[in-house]
Amino acid sequence: MNNKNCPICSNKSQSEYAPFCSDKCANKDLGNWLSGRYYIPGEKINDETIYDSVDLSDILKKDH
Ligand SMILES: [Zn+2]
Repeated sequence: MNNKNCPICSNKSQSEYAPFCSDKCANKDLGNWLSGRYYIPGEKINDETIYDSVDLSDILKKDH
């Protein structure tokens, strides 16, 4: 379950930063994600399924 590798640099992932190996790689991935998308506060980005489950109207509702 925890033997995935970091999708950024292919090092062993750390559960603290899963699926990444460090906050550096997590941030790098988030940056890639932000470049084409929007940020969802409090959401954990664990896999690509979030791309399909995100709805902008839900985010706006949560804003207040
Ligand atoms: Zn990494």
